[in-house]
Order: sequence, then C-alpha cells, then structure tokens
Amino acid sequence: MSENCIFCKIAQGDIPAKKVYEDDEFVVFHDINPAAPVHLLLIPRRHIASMQDITAEDAGWLGRMMTLVPRLAQENGCNPGPEGGFRLLANSGAEGGQEVPHLHFHIIGGSRPWKGRVAPNA
Ligand code: 5GP
Ligand code: ZN
Repeated sequence: MSENCIFCKIAQGDIPAKKVYEDDEFVVFHDINPAAPVHLLLIPRRHIASMQDITAEDAGWLGRMMTLVPRLAQENGCNPGPEGGFRLLANSGAEGGQEVPHLHFHIIGGSRPWKGRVAPNA
C-alpha cells in the first residue's frame, strides 16, 4: 500500500471501481475512460510503480498476472480466435505515457476496427 495511490485505494476498496475479478494478488476493473468497447485494467495488489522496477525476483507473480489476461479478456467481451483478440499494454514511466504510477496492464479490445495507434487514448 502506497499512500495517495489511487490504484492501491481501488485494490483496497477505498475508491469504488467496476471490478470484474479479484484474488489474493490481483484486481481487475473497467477503465474509467475506455478507449474501446472492452478496456480493463489489471493490477497487482502490491504497490510497484511500473515495469521499470521489475527484476528477476518478480518472475513468479508477474507470470501469474500475465496468465490471467486471456481468460479475463474473453470473459469480458473480447472476441476469441485470430479474428478477435485484444491489445495488452503497459505504459511505463513518463516517456512511456504512464499517468498512474502503480503498475497496470491495459486489456483493450472488442468489436471495433483498431486504428493502429499505440497509445490507448490516441
Ligand atoms: P496510464 O496512462 O497510467 O497507463 O493509464 C491510467 C489509466 O487509468 C487511464 O486509462 C485512466 O482512464 C484510468 N484511470 C485513472 N483514474 C482512474 C480511476 O479512478 N478509476 C478507473 N477505473 N480508472 C482510472
Ligand atoms: Zn499503488
């Protein structure tokens, strides 16, 4: 828990969010400003600022975090198979376009043609 971190507060339930999944380690909720029909944020409960802070010691929980992605995507409206899919995005640091400094994966998809931009809000 990091004081004044909005994603720590969402994980703890101190700030409301439209949660679609939570377990001991992770919380998943709808982005407040969706860039596509499906726009989820997947966060670890532990406070870690960004992918810039990841080391080999994080391989276990980070691997478990990544394995949640396909299931959450399909359960929340991303279409299956090669014609469907989703975009998995982790903005990291100011030059990576990160606004909330608590590591998160954007899961972005749903039936709308992708415009080919990298940033979710572009
Ligand atoms: P970043 O730019 O850090 O990769 O993305 C932060 C994301 O968090 C943005 O897409 C923004 O819409 C979302 N966001 C910011 N504050 C809140 C909030 O209080 N609740 C929810 N559900 N999403 C938020
Ligand atoms: Zn945090």
